Parts: sequence; C-alpha cells; structure tokens
Amino acid sequence: MPRLSSKTSFSVILTVLLVVLSAISIMSCAQEEEVSEKIGVVVTILPQAEFVENVGGERVNITVMVPPGANIHIYEPSPSQMTALAKAEMYAKVGSGIEFELVWTDKLIAANKDMLVVDCSQGIELQVMIGEYEHEGEHEEEEPEHGGMDPHVWMSPLNAQIMVRNICDGLIQVDPDSKTYYEQNRDAYLQKLAELDQDIRDGLSGVTNRKFMVYHPAFGYFAREYKLTMLPIEEEGKEPTAAGLAHLIEQAKEHEIKVIFAEPQFNPQSAEVIAEAIGGRVVFIDPLARDYIANLRMLLDELVQAME
Ligand SMILES: [Zn+2]
Repeated sequence: MPRLSSKTSFSVILTVLLVVLSAISIMSCAQEEEVSEKIGVVVTILPQAEFVENVGGERVNITVMVPPGANIHIYEPSPSQMTALAKAEMYAKVGSGIEFELVWTDKLIAANKDMLVVDCSQGIELQVMIGEYEHEGEHEEEEPEHGGMDPHVWMSPLNAQIMVRNICDGLIQVDPDSKTYYEQNRDAYLQKLAELDQDIRDGLSGVTNRKFMVYHPAFGYFAREYKLTMLPIEEEGKEPTAAGLAHLIEQAKEHEIKVIFAEPQFNPQSAEVIAEAIGGRVVFIDPLARDYIANLRMLLDELVQAME
C-alpha cells in the first residue's frame, strides 16, 4: 500500500470524520421525525388496536375509544379521547352497527373532517343476532338490540383477517411512503390468524356436543364459522325473566352444558344461577380483550374442556 502524504491523509481523515458526523446527525434526525410523525389512529375497540399495532408497528400512535372493562353498548368518549381524535389521521370504525358507533361515529367525523374513516367491516357479511333470530317469532313487536344484525364481527378469525386488510389499506392511504412496511407486517399477522383458524378447527374436530351457553351473545360469528351452537342467556339485551331462567336451566340440562360463559362487562348473576342449578361452572371470556389471538386460544381451550 503506497504511503500517503501527511496532507492527503489529513484530508482523508477529515472526509471520513465529516461523513460519520453527517451520518450520525441524519440518524438522530430520523429518530426525532419518527417520534413526531407517527400516524395518529383512532379505533373503537381493543381488538382493533391489536390489529392496527400489528400492521402499523412503530409508525402508529393508537387511541382506543372504548377502554378496557367499559361496556361497548353504552360508553361515551372522554375529553382526552376527543383531543386525540381531533389530531388523528385515521379512524378505523368496526362498522358493524355497535351502539357506540351508531351514537358517536357522526360526531367523531364532525370533530375531525380531515381524517380518513376506514370501515373495518367492509367485505364482511353481517349476520342476524343468534338470540334474536331464535326468538324472532315471539318478539316481533320489540325493537331488537343492534337493529337485528350481530355487530360482534371480530370474534371470527376469518373476519379479523378482512379487518386487518382494511386497516392496512387505510394506513397505506394516509402514509404511502411506508407501504412495504405495512404490507409485510400485515402478511405476517394474517399468517398468525390463519394458524389460529386452523388450530381452532383442529381443536374442535373431535368435539361431539357442540353447544355452549353464554350470557351476552357475542360469539355468533365464531359459532357459525366453527359449526357450534351458541345458547344465549340474555334476551334482546335484557336479563332473563324467572320463567326464562327456568327454561334456560332445562335447556342446559338437556344439552349437557357444563360451562356457562360470562363477560366481565355484564352481571354474571344469571349465569351463576344456571351454573349452580346444573352443577357446572362460570368461565369469564372477554370478547373485547386486546390480545386477540391469545384470547381466542383461551376460548378454544375452555370450549374443548366444556364440550368434552
Ligand atoms: Zn355486544
């Protein structure tokens, strides 16, 4: 290697130093931009936050409208949620007719006319509420909860895949520069959802008694997808009457039900009454839990045990 003159070597060192310094300053600049330029995304429920996080990763800042433990049917947004909404670039609504959105979506859109509104249920075929469907003939005069259609679309992993695709399309629309990043994340999460779906099919394949009892009928899409029969305790969003309760106990005995599923957002008293009468137990499953895949795996385990 030829010896460089001291002048040349000094200028080489200086050049290297400048390159290194400018690289460092670009890197720290990029880090600052990442913090300040995150995409503000508002969602209605926690499972959607999980979907957005899995697709958006470090690029998104998520605000959930209905917080943990709150009842999706009656919740009202707080001032701090409205502030986050005013700054958001995208609102991902569930879009399936849940009460929160029926009451609030127009008001949220009016508070931030520039944000993109993504309908997560676009492409999902809405189904009739199972409890209401079964009691249709008896309660024709009553206005059914949810307008007759079942809003709990996310409880089927196949519907969750559609929701994830819709969320990804929305993120690409508001942040096209990160398209590849979003698509890679989306595909990785879709793969996990496909594995979940397959594991549920495998797990339930040997189950012969495919009936399960729940307090609030949030598992309709899950039940239809996996050919299970959901027996809801709640009727038209109301506690059962004494006669209704007696009928449910008979039904539970007849179908050899051992587990009654209750949700933390609802009073478990009638579920406990039925469980006691049949010598079974109450298991709490939260359809609004954030960790979607782990939650459905827990539901699967409980169902397999309950239906043995
Ligand atoms: Zn519900």
